[in-house]
Amino acid sequence: MRQETGRIPACAPLTPIHGFMSTRIVLVDTQHPGNIGASARAMKNMGLRELYLVRPKCFPDPDAFARASGADDILERARICHTLDEAIAECGLVVGTSARQRHLPWQIVEPRECAARIAQEIQTGHVAIVFGSERYGLTNEELTRCNMLVTIPTSAEYSSLNLAMAVQVIAYEIWLATRPGAPQPPPRDVPLATAEEMTRFYAHLEEVLELIEFRDRTGRGHLMTRIRRLFNRANLDQNEVNILRGILTAVQARRRPAGKPVAR
Ligand code: SAH
Repeated sequence: MRQETGRIPACAPLTPIHGFMSTRIVLVDTQHPGNIGASARAMKNMGLRELYLVRPKCFPDPDAFARASGADDILERARICHTLDEAIAECGLVVGTSARQRHLPWQIVEPRECAARIAQEIQTGHVAIVFGSERYGLTNEELTRCNMLVTIPTSAEYSSLNLAMAVQVIAYEIWLATRPGAPQPPPRDVPLATAEEMTRFYAHLEEVLELIEFRDRTGRGHLMTRIRRLFNRANLDQNEVNILRGILTAVQARRRPAGKPVAR
């Protein structure tokens, strides 16, 4: 029997296995439950366990369990989220996946390079890899949540893989880079800021831009999108975000009308 997404318990973080930082697979707006099952199987083969589903069309669903084969446990503990922001909140590195070469200023890498980055970042923070819907892929709005984009190289004739096949290829590279015995890159000194911390930073920045009457001159309301891309590309760590938040607070203290508290 098919169950509507709305009746499923809200998104809550999965507990990382053995206390390690984790790599989560996030599937957004998946249309076919069979693809969810096949993705779960691909994950389990490659040692990944954390599946987050953002607005799945049909889940739980018998097709998902049939395609998962021996990976039912991944589906059973999958988290359902209403927004991408919920699914990535605690993550430092957020990687988007795209079949298309987008003409946008993102760092676009191949799966092997992406896996090497992940091997470094999971030493100090959670990582999310985000996959779009079968039909449309990720929207530009969803891409503004990502620090980098990964594209699986293909024949120029047909670049779009089946969703679960794309999960398989990327999960395989992550396994090679992180399996026991693989040489590990040195951890960063300070963890990356999480997606949630970045969201709070952008809200603070918007507030200050409003306060100093800095208007969007891009003409199409794209200022915040560009700002998000700029800072996400910079991979800010927690200290760096704190410095920026401190600067914003100092601006507010200078500009706020007498008697009004500084918003945090
Ligand atoms: N029509 C969509 C393709 C969607 S395929 C588009 O043009 O973007 C469904 C998802 O599988 C994509 O959103 C992406 O997450 C993943 N995917 C498919 N092919 C890929 C590729 N070559 N590289 C990286 N991810 C890919």
